[in-house]
Amino acid sequence: MPTNITLVQGDITEQDVDAVVNAANSSLLGGGGVDGAIHRKGGPDILAECRELRATQYGRGLPTGQAVATTAGRLPARWVIHTVGPVHQGAGSDPAPLASCYRESLRVADRLGARTVAFPAISTGAYRWPLEEAARVAVETVRAADTEVEEARFVLFDQRAYTAFAAQIG
Ligand code: ADP
Repeated sequence: MPTNITLVQGDITEQDVDAVVNAANSSLLGGGGVDGAIHRKGGPDILAECRELRATQYGRGLPTGQAVATTAGRLPARWVIHTVGPVHQGAGSDPAPLASCYRESLRVADRLGARTVAFPAISTGAYRWPLEEAARVAVETVRAADTEVEEARFVLFDQRAYTAFAAQIG
């Protein structure tokens, strides 16, 4: 079923959705940007679950393009879906791992039974993916996904990111 794509400018930690997606790093042990905000606001339970996942399933870290869920601590959401975006390597960087983040996050959402999912602009911060291309990959991938998720909400932190995503949605 095609999902309904919505856009908001705002903070992903404030979204009242079933699941929020975290632009995590492969350690799953926290970082800056979205990751820092989610752990700060969600509290220590999320990190405790991430440590458990590291210890039991992802000793070498969560691979780029994959996704895994924890509960959401004090966030309004029920779950956090952690995914690891690719670092941009300059011109010609392969967008497939970035597309995989969106696809795998929706797959995890389906497994959880999440019907509303909020995504940040994965890889467009510390991982330096050009915003226009990241927005194109994000929107195309979510549009093409076969999922039970009813709303995929892109949550853009600033005006520039919002404009880039809005241009892709048309
Ligand atoms: P990555 O390491 O995947 O690049 P970042 O967290 O550094 O992830 O950045 C991803 C995007 O999320 C950037 O566009 C950044 O501006 C944005 N961002 C940072 N904090 C938040 C937040 N609290 N809510 C939504 N988006 C955010």
